[in-house]
Amino acid sequence: MSFSSKTKKELCRIESANCCQKAECYGLLLFGRSFSLQSITLTTESRETAERTAELVARAAGVYVDVKTSPPRRGDQRSACTLSVPGSSQIEQVLHQFGYTGKEISLRMNLANLDHECCRSAFLRGAFLSCGTVTDPARDYRLEFVVPYRNLARDLTAFLRDIFELDATPGIINRKGSFVVYLKGGDHVADLLTFLGAGSSAMELIQVRMLKEVRNEVNRKTNFETANIEKTASAAARQMIALKKIFACGGVSLLPEELRELALLRYQNPDLSLRELGQNLEPPLSRSGVNHRLSRIMELAEHLRGSDLEQGAEPERGRTRAGSRSERG
Ligand SMILES: [Zn+2]
Repeated sequence: MSFSSKTKKELCRIESANCCQKAECYGLLLFGRSFSLQSITLTTESRETAERTAELVARAAGVYVDVKTSPPRRGDQRSACTLSVPGSSQIEQVLHQFGYTGKEISLRMNLANLDHECCRSAFLRGAFLSCGTVTDPARDYRLEFVVPYRNLARDLTAFLRDIFELDATPGIINRKGSFVVYLKGGDHVADLLTFLGAGSSAMELIQVRMLKEVRNEVNRKTNFETANIEKTASAAARQMIALKKIFACGGVSLLPEELRELALLRYQNPDLSLRELGQNLEPPLSRSGVNHRLSRIMELAEHLRGSDLEQGAEPERGRTRAGSRSERG
């Protein structure tokens, strides 16, 4: 079951006061597929939402809705359920109940339907059950309301922004002819879920986020260590290339006396750390001492490359190489 379906299931178990039942019913119908003199309908894939809507409309508006089930769309397992208020007189009755004539030019929110503070949460719960989704926190932290009407979407945005507990800055985008009001970010989504009454879903989101953070931290540290190991390994590899070149060009006698023992030791033990190399020298040498001598060996190998090229076809650069040769000698 998706995180969204689980959240809706949790919300549908909430028992609320009469005032809140009316407010939730209003949210469900207003944010449904249509809310006008022609029809009042709501489509949902959540069986729980369908049952709750039917019950709330009966209780709060005294109307029994028609329920139609359509077979699942391709690639989907769940069937969609369409609820509609039957007959024009009952449609008028419901519209009237919530302060509408059905002749409004543009559909807006009527805050007079929210009698008390407690009703704000119930109203939003209805809106979410009707047109909302929340993304699985393993993927992202995002909650959306897909609203068919522009001004209604704007009203919802303002309503969300005004709820002190949420401290939210919802965004609004146009998608396939609908207006999507969305909240992003783990904290904001968890706060809204809590405000709607989905405490378990909010908790699940917070736990998933904590796990992700711990995992990222571990990854960050391991990557850092791997990078260090690779750095050491590639330094040793570069030393080996330099040493091979020295041996190919005439051997360890090319090196000053104090570097010869270390050169041989490194060549025979490519896996030893600098500290271990130092301990195996006679007399022993510190890590930084070893590092310094290895750098000198590398440098000398560089100059060897120069003298190799000198035998090639670049006479105009000879002076530089002469210079480097004199350094070597
Ligand atoms: Zn209430």
